[in-house]
Amino acid sequence: KSITTDMVTLTRELEKFARDKKIEIETLKIREEYRREFLGNVSHELKTPLFTVQGYILTLLDGAMNDKVLRKKYLQRAEKGVERLIYIVQDLDMITKMEVGDLNLTFTKFNILEVIQNVFDLLEMKADKKGIILMFDMKYIKPIMVYGDKEKIQQVLTNLVVNSIKYGKENGSTEVGIEDLVNNKIIIRVKDNGEGIEQKHIPRLFERFYRVDKSGARTEGGSGLGLAIVKHIIEGHDEKMYVESTFGKGSEFSFTLEKTK
Ligand code: ADP
Repeated sequence: KSITTDMVTLTRELEKFARDKKIEIETLKIREEYRREFLGNVSHELKTPLFTVQGYILTLLDGAMNDKVLRKKYLQRAEKGVERLIYIVQDLDMITKMEVGDLNLTFTKFNILEVIQNVFDLLEMKADKKGIILMFDMKYIKPIMVYGDKEKIQQVLTNLVVNSIKYGKENGSTEVGIEDLVNNKIIIRVKDNGEGIEQKHIPRLFERFYRVDKSGARTEGGSGLGLAIVKHIIEGHDEKMYVESTFGKGSEFSFTLEKTK
């Protein structure tokens, strides 16, 4: 009887072992596929600006160099391509660090109004080129102190405001607002009146390299990583992100933060 019991136990253990191994292999397979897809996306993203820059250099070498006007024009365009490459590499660097859990948040107390002001100062010219006005509800005169990583939160706001300009309508506006929530939290909203996003895309927006309109987004020159970075930073703070959008009308991206004295 005891031999039978042992055999049953052994069989069960072997079965469990086989099950665990199978899961392990499945997980490895998924991870490998993910890695391959990521590398594919990266080279794809890099190729476009690289070929652009190469194109301008070749045209210059081909004779355009001798024309003063063309020379300046093509060099400026090549420089834009290089700038784009730098942005992509910086974003990749950040996302890779984040995905291996190397987010390195440094929590301090800071005034969120100051961060909003910094972001507006930084992006005013970009907005202006499209006739977009950056607005902030002026009812706040006293500092609003929050607890978090100031630099990373500034990155979040920058990415959201950059998007509101990129996907905003010409001569439109971007509105940043703050509201108090319960439990000592605030919610910060970035709202545009641009093209909006169809509902079916919303669940996938925060995936790296996901874009609603591949060709359209590409001419706007993002890396497709902006929202993935935003999501990592907000989750690293144990906070929440929300998106509301009406196709053709505009979008609102918001996130919560902890208030402090
Ligand atoms: P990208 O570099 O393409 O802007 P993001 O990760 O920042 O990458 O955004 C992913 C996609 O989400 C964009 O390509 C765009 O389709 C959509 N998106 C982001 N913000 C907005 C917005 N404010 N309005 C409309 N679409 C947006």
